[in-house]
Amino acid sequence: MAAFDPVPPPRRPDRRAPHPRFAAFLRRARRGCVRLGFAVASVVTLAVATDAPAATARPTVPAAGLQLGGVSYTDARARFASIGYESDYDAKAQTLAVRAKDKTTPGHELVFTVEKREARLDGMRVFLGEPAVLHRGELHLATLDFERFLLPILHPARLPARALRTVVIDAGHGGVDTGTQNKAHRLDEKVFALDVALRLQALLGDERWRVLQTRTEDRFVPLGERAEFANKEKADLFISIHFNAVANNSTVRGTETYVLTPRFQRSTSSPKATAEDKVEQVGNRHDAWSAVLGHRMHRELLSRLKTDDRGLKRARFAVLRLVDCPAVLIEAGYLSNDDEARRIADEDYREEIARALHAAILAYDQARAAAEIEAVMVPEHWR
Ligand SMILES: [Zn+2]
Repeated sequence: MAAFDPVPPPRRPDRRAPHPRFAAFLRRARRGCVRLGFAVASVVTLAVATDAPAATARPTVPAAGLQLGGVSYTDARARFASIGYESDYDAKAQTLAVRAKDKTTPGHELVFTVEKREARLDGMRVFLGEPAVLHRGELHLATLDFERFLLPILHPARLPARALRTVVIDAGHGGVDTGTQNKAHRLDEKVFALDVALRLQALLGDERWRVLQTRTEDRFVPLGERAEFANKEKADLFISIHFNAVANNSTVRGTETYVLTPRFQRSTSSPKATAEDKVEQVGNRHDAWSAVLGHRMHRELLSRLKTDDRGLKRARFAVLRLVDCPAVLIEAGYLSNDDEARRIADEDYREEIARALHAAILAYDQARAAAEIEAVMVPEHWR
């Protein structure tokens, strides 16, 4: 997270300062280079990623943090202003709406509600680690939510660049482990998960990336083994495919996307903090890129499948904890909902799910490539 470190780099000590005239020359030369660097980076970045940030928007040093119940909070209005977003607080609804100030660049719209972990990002449901709080009339967000989740999603080009060579697709369950079921229609999760996994592999092809599967047939693979396989093969991306079910409520339907819960935060299903929240997991090394991946996945799934939006959530599922690369687990639909189960049983629909996952991987790769270009064009100390 070096790119988001709010602490400015140490200044050169006075005794080592160059002659004032030479210093002035250096400043002029650097300004010229910075302008050139940003200009070139911006043009190239915008050419490859439509949702790349405006080059002028740089995070500034945040105001002194607020501590509440052991959680560090940050002033949402001030932090978003520092990246070129304006905020509008509705006192009656207790919501803060945030949008890009410059309407000419592609920007996002976010809405936060006091005392709620659920927020909206371009109309999509996203779950934060901590509820937004109102302090002295200003809405505050947990600092980790802003820095490890929202900022990476909004400005991935500023993240440390990373490669994408190997994609591991993980078809959930298999063999004796059927996964969730719709018994009335004799539908098993394991069958559809594998079918979508194979369709996704076909769409990805084998020219651009090395694409591997944790299973290609109906066999049981323990969760630890799936992660071990991905790590041994040096996966750069891990996509786990599942279908959901809920007991005694056949009306629940829709798509959920999960990323690993960051350290020191609660999973979406946890009403309060637990000891496990403090444990650093292998997957936590990749929180920022997993947030980008999760966002792209959920966005593509919702826009293509037109299902109910169950939200971009956080959980410490074994595969997400143990894989050493950006990872996501998708619950594409509910087999316990008869109508949705019928759609999932239709192969055209499963092809559409695979297409959504494929589009999300391409969108992730675009964001990743933009970060790679930014890393080359704009030296670290100028970023
Ligand atoms: Zn499952």
